[in-house]
Amino acid sequence: MKGIVTAMACINLSLAGAAAAGPGRDNPLLLAWDTPEGTPPFARIELVDIEPAMVAAMAEHDREIAAIRDNPEPPTFANTIEALDRAGSLLSRVGAVFSVLNGTSTSDSLQAVARRLSPLRSRHADAILLDQALFARIDAVHRAQADLGLDGEQVRLLDETWREFTRGGAALDEADRVRLQAINEELAMLGLQFGENVLKETSRYELVVADEAGLSGLPPALVQAAAEAAAQRGRPGSWVFTLHRPSLIPFLESSTRRDLREQLLRAYLSMGSHGDELDNRAVLRRTVELRLERARLLGFPSHAHYVLADNMAGNPGAVYSLLDRLWAPALARAKTEAADMQALVDAEGGGFTLAAWDWWHYAEKVKKARFDLDEGLVRPYFELEAVRAGLFDVVRRLWGLTFRERDDVQVWHPEVKVYDVLDQDGSLLAVWYSDYFPRESKRGGAWMSSLRKTWRDGDRRVVPLVYNVGNFTRPTADTPALLSLDEVRTMYHEFGHALHGMLSQCRYEKLSGTSVARDFVELPSQVLENWALDPDVLARHARHWQTGRPMPAELVERLQRARHFNQGFETVEYLAASYLDMDWHTLEDPAQAANVDPEAFEAASLGRIGLIDAIAVRYRSPYFRHVFGGGYSAGYYSYVWAEVLDADAFAAFQESGDVFDPATATAFRRHILERGGAAPPMELYRAFRGRDPGIGPLLERRGLD
Ligand SMILES: [Zn+2]
Repeated sequence: MKGIVTAMACINLSLAGAAAAGPGRDNPLLLAWDTPEGTPPFARIELVDIEPAMVAAMAEHDREIAAIRDNPEPPTFANTIEALDRAGSLLSRVGAVFSVLNGTSTSDSLQAVARRLSPLRSRHADAILLDQALFARIDAVHRAQADLGLDGEQVRLLDETWREFTRGGAALDEADRVRLQAINEELAMLGLQFGENVLKETSRYELVVADEAGLSGLPPALVQAAAEAAAQRGRPGSWVFTLHRPSLIPFLESSTRRDLREQLLRAYLSMGSHGDELDNRAVLRRTVELRLERARLLGFPSHAHYVLADNMAGNPGAVYSLLDRLWAPALARAKTEAADMQALVDAEGGGFTLAAWDWWHYAEKVKKARFDLDEGLVRPYFELEAVRAGLFDVVRRLWGLTFRERDDVQVWHPEVKVYDVLDQDGSLLAVWYSDYFPRESKRGGAWMSSLRKTWRDGDRRVVPLVYNVGNFTRPTADTPALLSLDEVRTMYHEFGHALHGMLSQCRYEKLSGTSVARDFVELPSQVLENWALDPDVLARHARHWQTGRPMPAELVERLQRARHFNQGFETVEYLAASYLDMDWHTLEDPAQAANVDPEAFEAASLGRIGLIDAIAVRYRSPYFRHVFGGGYSAGYYSYVWAEVLDADAFAAFQESGDVFDPATATAFRRHILERGGAAPPMELYRAFRGRDPGIGPLLERRGLD
């Protein structure tokens, strides 16, 4: 294994120096990048470069748009629709760098830049979507569509472009266009503020344990990480636990101190509701109100109707119907799980009723009793680098891809690793970056994005630059990074998104890679999770980090037997959040949206479905970042929608008798992974599977059938 890549500047250090771009220093974000594969020159980029580069790139995009709009030639597919797809490449490039820095290495000054840029970006995007002369050209091409002799991907580009403009308000009258622009600007700021507040809330809380009695039940690695966190936070000699998942979840699982579990979980559940400057309740209420106003302007009864019209689901009824179908069996299963745990509490003479802060702990105990399994037993077999090597091997066996680490590509943080992704014939398909450990400057969760998407320029395919970010368990002084099962699955999940971006063969950037309906985008990511704990994969790659011995066969088998364990809980906490998201966004009455009390609304939503006290909704509204600070509003259901597809797709591999079946893998690559949004998602799925997806495999997988 190679050490830390050389010649990389940590962006935080160079930002702290904040050397101004004085006269004579050209902005590296705006220059041609004479780097390997045209990768961003992170070592040369400084904070002061970002804002002027974004402003210049938006101006450049405006000039490109003006040239398309003012073209004296009559509108054609090439001079209007294709030209629009080609426009804005500088802005994509600079925006991608800004996005990765703000997501993984942010600071007060970078957040201030983001706040200043937010209204400019929103105004810039709206000025294009609401440009009447430009839309007239698009509409003319769209009306002539049947006579243009376009191929399937071109028809799709034309349709999607036209839809984007009409959904963006291009067909509204002037007063409504002005109002829409103001709404979008305010919403952009609110989303930004929501996310910043969550980040600050997550980082500011600490559970300080001053004596060893507070460590009761905790595994040594967690104790050591807490000691290191305490030292870093200027509290040597104590232990600090935080609301970051690698600290929160293991603490809830293993701590035998019920009072401390309660303290920690209550702190988590109250994020964004403290009545101070980080309170998100007013932010989310205003967001809901403005989203509804925008939907009504655009002719939809609710925000959910507006969002879903652009997704596979089509309308809120279809979403609720899937959620309802799963809810009853999942809740029944969760109640059985709760009863099992209560029996254990009683047998121990606990003398209390199982509460939300007990669930993780007693679930671990039941798992241990029933399957002789706990996280501590399996983590030593999941050293991060070994998991990554296993993942690479899985992808090699499925699609013949190979990976080569490189040390000549500049990165945004010294912990980032970079790989060439090579196709079967040795050609370069993509460059992939990973950034896996938590930092205070990084937002929570895990995600995939691109520094550059792929498209085709004549015969030339632009090499995509794709990255994965995670917040996985860090190595400590004594142990390497040993991952939980959940973290292993997350690594596979995000890599599935990365494959979608890296294998794309689309001609147009707008349709490329993960640019698909939101309830389809989780198919490639979720399907890859199926291989994470496959017995054959474990046999090859799960080796004890100290002894190098493979995971014992009987432990592999216990893992398989435990795969339905706790599925009631996991399904219920997820579905509850999906209902909450849908309930917020199916509000149709503007007066109600303007005056809603977030806490009462949430309680009513969770009460209506009958959520039990022992289970907390996965995200409460004031820190439900997917829907109030990200792109998943009226879309959190997408994960389970896509799971119907992913379970059905994986069943195709199983039916072949070999989960590495080359023919099935190739079909999945050709019809799904390479196609991006080049055709409607159901059409792509049918091409792969030969029929519509069925819900049976999902119910079986979750043990809900
Ligand atoms: Zn995902």
